[in-house]
Amino acid sequence: MSDAYGRLLDATIQHLENLKSRGVRNVTVAPETLSELRQSPKKISSPDQMSKTETAPQSPMPAKQSPPEKTTAFAELQKRALVCVKCPHLASSRQHVVFGVGSIDASLMFVGEAPGADEDEQGEPFVGRAGQLLTKIIQAAGLSRADVYIANILKCRPDTPGQSAGNRKPTPDEMATCIPYLHEQIDLIRPRVIVALGATAVDGLLGKTPGITKLRGNWQTYRGTPLMPTYHPAYLLRNQAMSEKRKVWEDMLAVMAKLGMPVSEKQRNYFLKA
Ligand code: URA
Repeated sequence: MSDAYGRLLDATIQHLENLKSRGVRNVTVAPETLSELRQSPKKISSPDQMSKTETAPQSPMPAKQSPPEKTTAFAELQKRALVCVKCPHLASSRQHVVFGVGSIDASLMFVGEAPGADEDEQGEPFVGRAGQLLTKIIQAAGLSRADVYIANILKCRPDTPGQSAGNRKPTPDEMATCIPYLHEQIDLIRPRVIVALGATAVDGLLGKTPGITKLRGNWQTYRGTPLMPTYHPAYLLRNQAMSEKRKVWEDMLAVMAKLGMPVSEKQRNYFLKA
């Protein structure tokens, strides 16, 4: 078994145990993930619509080793967030506080908007349809979810009173109340690059901006850390144009270059028209 596969397996088992300890008894798994799990550990998936598999490389971002104080501080931060009731309306409607997932030593951190229904149910960010697309993007870069850290501006699902389905954007008050947890996560993880997924993530981290369409693809700085604004995967699900996928992929290529990650010819050409 390769080191990378072993690490992924350990992270998966750890995650399932965390869910179990929070009372989760069932998890949703995408059919393509199940079929990948049935394959040899040497295979990993390629990105959206690219169905071929290839030999899994060692992670192009070797993990740093956390000092014990960092692990403790992170666990304490998580403990505080998990019992947070600063937004009573969200605390009473949520199933889980969705703190974050991945390596606390990650060089690359993704920040999204807020948990949706799937995330609220499972206690993990980006596990619904948009999340599955984000996972493919991460895998297309040669990484796994266990290599990066994924969090949101809001740790609770925005409530939708009187509505049986759908999501709503976080309010400015909710964002201002919750963002200190994210600041602390970033301060402890100290990623080398942050990818902000969509307008809410960009506004939450940078303050009011000219908008995601103007900003995406252009490096910004969050407290000294390079930040790449890009479209939210949910936008790519709504707009299936190859040109939009390519824009997000170009942002990821810039991120990979910034991190000194190897980029293959095949990766460079993803989502270019034939
Ligand atoms: N969208 C987000 O912004 N975050 C999630 O965790 C899921 C969907």
